[in-house]
Amino acid sequence: MFWSKDVGGKSDCPECGAKLESEHHTYVMAIREDGDIQPFVVGNDAGYFCAECPIVVLDYEVFTKFAIFGLGREGHGQFTVLGLVDLSAIPEEKSGVPLGEDGNPIPLVQFANLQRHPEGDRSRARSRKKQKRSRRKRKRK
Ligand SMILES: [Zn+2]
Repeated sequence: MFWSKDVGGKSDCPECGAKLESEHHTYVMAIREDGDIQPFVVGNDAGYFCAECPIVVLDYEVFTKFAIFGLGREGHGQFTVLGLVDLSAIPEEKSGVPLGEDGNPIPLVQFANLQRHPEGDRSRARSRKKQKRSRRKRKRK
C-alpha cells in the first residue's frame, strides 16, 4: 500500500508501471489523537489498484478528509489505513448486523507495508500474496 503523495500520483503503479484502476472499497482506518486510537470504517473509491500486481495506491487527500470527519474536526490527529474490508466474506445472515458486533467480525484484509521499503521483507511478500488471493475472489469484469 502506498500513499499517492509518496509515489507522485495515482495513475501508474509505483512498482511495475502498469495503469492503476480506481475501485470502491470499504476501509478500516485507525485515527489517533492524544493517545487514543479509534477505528473508523469508511467506504470510498479512493483506492487505486494495479491491474498487474497486488499494489494499491490510496489517495492521501481523500483519506485525510475522512480522517478529519472521523475526528469531528480538523486537529492534529494522526491516521493510517489498516486494510480493506472483504465484504464478500461476510455471511449473508449477518448482513444486517453492524460490522464488528454480535459475532460479525470485520473481515480485514490487512495492508502489509505502510511505507516504502526498498528491500521488501518476507512478511510483506506474504501479505501481498494474501491480498492478491482475496482480490482474485472477486471476479473482475
Ligand atoms: Zn503494478
